This record gives sequence, structure tokens and C-alpha cells, in this order.
Amino acid sequence: MTTRFAPSPTGRLHLGHAYAALFAHRAARAAGGRFLLRIEDIDAGRCRQDFVDGIVADLAWLGLDWDGPVRRQSEHLDDYRAALGRLDGLGLLYPCFCTRSDILREVERAGAAPQGPDGPLYPGLCRGLTASERRDRAAAGEPFALRLDMARAAALAGRLTWIDGAAGEQVAEPGLFGDVVLARKDAPSSYHLAVTVDDALQGVTLVTRGTDLFAASHLHRLLQALLELPVPRWHHHRLLSDPSGRRLAKRDRAATLLSMREAGADPRAIISSLADDAA
Ligand code: GLU
Repeated sequence: MTTRFAPSPTGRLHLGHAYAALFAHRAARAAGGRFLLRIEDIDAGRCRQDFVDGIVADLAWLGLDWDGPVRRQSEHLDDYRAALGRLDGLGLLYPCFCTRSDILREVERAGAAPQGPDGPLYPGLCRGLTASERRDRAAAGEPFALRLDMARAAALAGRLTWIDGAAGEQVAEPGLFGDVVLARKDAPSSYHLAVTVDDALQGVTLVTRGTDLFAASHLHRLLQALLELPVPRWHHHRLLSDPSGRRLAKRDRAATLLSMREAGADPRAIISSLADDAA
């Protein structure tokens, strides 16, 4: 078995990350398998080297050791380009020149937009552009994202299932995401594409992460089918909350592992307080 912890270096890790890392670490170690660390730093505008250093230091402080080299997404952009090329070859991508306000305006005009897990579904403005319109606008230097033509992709893939260790067998519902962005205007890959490609390339066989990303797995399952990638198992685990019941987030400074370390906390006590239901 191979698991991974895949944080984005956009802030210091907090107790919720420690739980996610511990969950993946325990699952791998219990099976005599491998636990990998991946830095999800595709979003150059939000990621920082000092947060990467912080992740490494925090995991070391907690005593969670990983196997092999750390994969940094920003060093593997060709892998995501290759996956995009393959999807494009299947005729499943189209360039989208819309700005956020173009989309909002269209959503308001239409009166309602169905909500997807990442926000309102794309109303399809650029789906019907002709090949020459696409070419001309790109040649004029208009920035564009690449979207997946969900109806075609889902029809090509057919019925798909996946297994979550807690929730059981799922029938994939990637259509929840509509024509999702797979390459952003400002980044060569979206989270969804990069994570799917990486989990396959790194041989991850059990994807563990919080239930906030449960819906994403419907889409990842579709991408695996389209890209002919191996299909892992998943286990979406609970999210930690603060005493008032609010989900822990990077903005909660008090809960960072750094502030706990500076306050003299014992990492072994932290691990045992989290360990009760971590696999
Ligand atoms: N990088 C994502 C995050 O920080 C996690 C990705 C995943 O586990 O699939 O939330």
C-alpha cells in the first residue's frame, strides 16, 4: 500500500493537517507500505518556500517520517501538459476566455446557476466558439483556461464506480462539476488534474484526505478513466474543528503546529490525542 500527504504550502500547518498526515502515515505503516510527501505548489502566487520548509519541520517535529524523495508539483509541469495533450487529443478540452465577471454576468442573466462543489457551474459561454474564433482570440493574446467538455467526457467514459473505505462503493458523478477548468489562465494545471496525475505517477494506492474533498473524487475517477490511469481506493476522513465547532483553517493561528511547538507542547501528546480514530 502507498499513501500520501499532499499539503499546499500556502500557510503553516495546523492540527487538521497533522491529523491528515497521521491518518495517511498510520494506514501505510499498518500495512507495511509506503507513505509519501507531496508539495502541491502549482499556484505560484499563493505558495511560499518558507511554508514548504515549515511543512518539513512540522512533520519532523511530529515524528512522521516519509519514504523517498518529496515530489513538488511545480517541478513536474510537463506531466500535466502531457495529460492535457491526451485529453485534447480525445477532443474533450476547449479554451475558455471568460473572466470571472463574464461568468457572473451570464449567471445573473440566466437567473440561476446550478452550484457545483467548486462554485457555480460554468454556463458554457465559450463551449460553442468556432475553431477560427478560438484561434483568432488566442493569437490576439487573450488569456484562456482549458475546460473539460463534461457531457462528452462523461459519455465517453460511461458508468464509473469508486470505493471509499468509510462510505463504501460510489457511482461516480463527475457531472457535479460541469465543464471544470483543468488548466487555469495563471497556472498550467488545476488541482484536480495535478492530483490525479501525481497519485498515479507516484503509485498511490490509497488516497486519504478530508471529507471536504469527497466530491472531488467523483471527478478524479473520471480523469483516471479518460487518461487510462490505475484506480486507487479512497478514504475520506473527518475534519477537525475548533471548540466552537468551526472547521480549522490556515487562518487560525492559534492552532498551528508552530505555535504549539513554541508554546512548549509535547508532539507525542499531540499525536496520541489525534490517534484515537486515525486508522
Ligand atoms: N493539496 C490539497 C490541500 O492542501 C490536498 C490534496 C489532496 O489530498 O488530494 O488541501
